Amino acid sequence: MPARIIDGKAIATELRAAVAAQVQRIAALGVVPGLAVVLVGENPASAVYVRNKSKQTVEAGMRSFDHKLPEDAPENEVLTLVEKLNADPAVHGILVQLPLPQQIDSQKVLNAIDPAKDVDGFHPVNAGRLSTGLPALTPGTPLGCIHLAKSVHRSLEGMEAVVVGRSNIVGKPLFQLLLNENATVTVAHSRTRDLPAVCRRADLLFAAVGRPEMIRRDWIKPGATVIDVGINRITGADGKNRIVGDVAYAEAAEVAGAITPVPGGVGPMTIACLLVNTVRAACAIHGLPKPAV
Ligand code: NAP
Repeated sequence: MPARIIDGKAIATELRAAVAAQVQRIAALGVVPGLAVVLVGENPASAVYVRNKSKQTVEAGMRSFDHKLPEDAPENEVLTLVEKLNADPAVHGILVQLPLPQQIDSQKVLNAIDPAKDVDGFHPVNAGRLSTGLPALTPGTPLGCIHLAKSVHRSLEGMEAVVVGRSNIVGKPLFQLLLNENATVTVAHSRTRDLPAVCRRADLLFAAVGRPEMIRRDWIKPGATVIDVGINRITGADGKNRIVGDVAYAEAAEVAGAITPVPGGVGPMTIACLLVNTVRAACAIHGLPKPAV
């Protein structure tokens, strides 16, 4: 039986509607969440992403503050802007779009963001809080992955989960979130021995590698739920460019129980979860109860 397709686009639309309802609720109490996005330089992919973020922020009823700096902006200018945003009471979330130009130390900039406004969840304080089980702002992509897995399985408890990839922005926080869901988690990476056999153990398989269609049909346990984080641009046999994931989708869909497409799976969830984090940050900063998203 072909796999159920997990419609990330539809699930993200529902989540954004839930965010908008929470924004309305707290706006009635006098708090309008505000998200500031800092873009340095002209990277076209980043510019598109930032535009989408701003549009969806406004559509959810929040304030969006866009800050564009030139490609050659010195590190100090970015740090000064972050300090200004930290101090601005209208701003509840700060996101510095990565990658930053090479003259800027990204980690230094991320470390300068007030952890209470760190809606990307990349600050070491939030990473540490997540790993010690304290409430934390958590990166949007892994949050989105959990959301998608839970659209298939009401509970992930006791399930065998395999995460391929151990980056700070996807693999590691996903590992922590899966542990919090009481899954049994294996994190695989480029030095893992016999990766296909490790993947075949998974009831829940998450691919966050950045290698086009690396995960093949025979790596997948029949009936498994497959969540593909990968976004890879390739040139097809017809000479046209297209985007594929880290999983060979067509063949994987013949054995998986449920699978996310690329595009239209994890991608749309990342911005929706960023909006969730912005509402959560606004509530925490103003001492309001945690929102129901
Ligand atoms: P990353 O920082 O480059 O990390 C890639 C991870 O994959 C590393 O841990 C690496 O292992 C592992 N890896 C590389 N080659 C491997 C192999 N042959 N076998 C097993 N593991 C291998 O990448 P990332 O930032 O996590 O992103 C991963 C993918 O997700 C990319 O395609 C990216 O575009 C996409 N992404 C999508 C979203 C979204 O919104 N949908 C968000 C973020 C990222 P080592 O640690 O051993 O080097």
